[in-house]
Amino acid sequence: MSEKSFATLDDLFAHGDIAGKRVLMRADLNVPVRDGAVSDATRIERIVPTIRELTGKGAIVILLSHFGRPKGERNLEFSLKAVAPAVAEESGLEVTFADDCVGDTAASVIASAKPGSVVLLENTRFHKGETDNDGAFADQLAALGDAYVNDAFSAAHRAHASTEAIAKRLPAYAGRAMEAELTALEGALAKPEKPVVAIVGGAKISTKLDLLGNLVSRVDYLVIGGGMANTFLAAQGIDVKKSLCEHDLGDTAREILAKAEAAGCQVLLPRDVVVAEEFKAMAPCKTVPATEVPDGHMILDVGSDTIADLAARFEAAKTVVWNGPLGAFEIAPFDNGTNAAARHVAMLTKMGELNSVAGGGDTVAALNNAGAADDFSYVSTAGGAFLEWLEGKTLPGVDALSRS
Ligand code: AMP
Repeated sequence: MSEKSFATLDDLFAHGDIAGKRVLMRADLNVPVRDGAVSDATRIERIVPTIRELTGKGAIVILLSHFGRPKGERNLEFSLKAVAPAVAEESGLEVTFADDCVGDTAASVIASAKPGSVVLLENTRFHKGETDNDGAFADQLAALGDAYVNDAFSAAHRAHASTEAIAKRLPAYAGRAMEAELTALEGALAKPEKPVVAIVGGAKISTKLDLLGNLVSRVDYLVIGGGMANTFLAAQGIDVKKSLCEHDLGDTAREILAKAEAAGCQVLLPRDVVVAEEFKAMAPCKTVPATEVPDGHMILDVGSDTIADLAARFEAAKTVVWNGPLGAFEIAPFDNGTNAAARHVAMLTKMGELNSVAGGGDTVAALNNAGAADDFSYVSTAGGAFLEWLEGKTLPGVDALSRS
């Protein structure tokens, strides 16, 4: 048995031989498809270890996934059939496609599947019961398998039949990709080594209020950068001139700062900033104190003194959690602050000094742009599920795998 708070494949194997057993595996095969073929197989690559471990022990792996938003109707524009060849290629296994995810069609394809092979079922969202988390639909899905494995963290924030209700109807386990994600996330916020530095950047605070509210009560330092820092600066009476700023959220920003102070979390706002007159690549720019943004200018990045402050925090930290860029990273040279900070975190991680976990929104693109993503301890590509986890929410698909 594993020591984890959730059941894993090791628990499944401890229950006995799975040769010939039907394992329903929830995957996230909502992958980009262009001209009828998968154009980016990253999500498929991540689930291959689980598929191969199960088939290697003789199980029949039955893949369940959503694909796009067909809104409960059979619409072949959203068929998973186009994804089957990529699953076969990435896994090196025989993959048979079933035209429906429940009923006789699915049952007969599964009945003729060989042990050690893979069946891919049609889009679960062709049935309304999927997004309704409907019990009768979950019963139909569960009837097709002997055990359930969820390897789709990126779909775990939704209480749908294939992520939640089904897990109550079969013995349920986390796949290896889910296990890696949950282990990384637990290590970053649930049981982190202190001090913990959280970096939150991006455009606006309105989309990240729950996230900021949760982080201030969990981390030692909260670094706020990007456009959202402007709202905090303005809330402290600083004139940010033409900068992106949610002026109507001044009270909210002050409440977050008060909550942080009460929780003993130190908030770090930019001391100096890079300003320009236009939001444009290579726009003429200069670095000024955050309190002295010139007329007609906007803040587009953090300045060099701020970068030096952050570097000192990183040196002293044991854990870094990161969501959102520190500046307008898509346009040079305003990617400088994000790049410098990301490369420093990556270097300390590589040296074994830091545990670093990042994800959500544009974060993956920003870290890739910095050439730093590969050296972080874990970069989540889960988007919405990662953000909900940072917000401290219980993810239904994860909760359903918990031992308690
Ligand atoms: P988000 O999706 O909330 O993580 O925000 C990411 C976006 O914030 C990126 O497109 C950045 O260009 C943008 N951003 C970051 N800093 C600034 C800034 N100072 N002014 C305007 N946009 C910014």
